[in-house]
Amino acid sequence: MRLLVIEDEFKLAAYLCKGLTEEGFVVDVAHNGVDGLHLAMECDYDLVVLDAMLPGIDGLGVLAALRQSKQTPVLMLTARVRVEDKVKGLQSGADDYLVKPFAFSELAARIQVLLRRGRPRPADSATVLCLADLEVDLLRRKATRAGRRLELTAKEFNLLVLLLRRQGEVLSRTEIAEQVWDMNFDSATNVIDVAIRRLRGKLDAPFERALLHTVRGIGYVLEARDE
Ligand code: CA
Repeated sequence: MRLLVIEDEFKLAAYLCKGLTEEGFVVDVAHNGVDGLHLAMECDYDLVVLDAMLPGIDGLGVLAALRQSKQTPVLMLTARVRVEDKVKGLQSGADDYLVKPFAFSELAARIQVLLRRGRPRPADSATVLCLADLEVDLLRRKATRAGRRLELTAKEFNLLVLLLRRQGEVLSRTEIAEQVWDMNFDSATNVIDVAIRRLRGKLDAPFERALLHTVRGIGYVLEARDE
């Protein structure tokens, strides 16, 4: 999947590029509307993240020009919450909106929704989550494998639930840090790795079949693989 980020704030653009690359996307970045529009017209992106306030042509201008020939999904970033801006943007063909400042996980989640639009999504209302012989009861905060109770700390339990809810999906350290620790990536790298190691010691080590897998350079995934 190939994404284009059009954002004139260099630090934010770099942060988004890094995070989205970790999510497994190929990411191009443009720092103004003219370059962004040019790239979006030339290449077939799966999705464009478009800042509303840009030097030169602004986000709405880019969107209007793009929509004359392309239906690429567009997620707009805006610093303004004004309803008329939102209406104008959606009329111009934006597929979704995110108001700054936002959490990276929120952006990643919305991108996934846009990319999957039309596909059925798993229910979020289940109170017992399962994978192979692993069973997690959210109400009782109890995790078992093959009927044996796993003694997890609160953080380990939350980490397991996140991985289990998104089973089969590779989660980056950035996203895990935001979702479970409410921290940003830079300060949390080692924390995540240590927590994963501890969780693995309880979840996988005593059992024959491993469920928690490392995807090198990207992150972690919980899934039952055929041995
Ligand atoms: Ca801007």
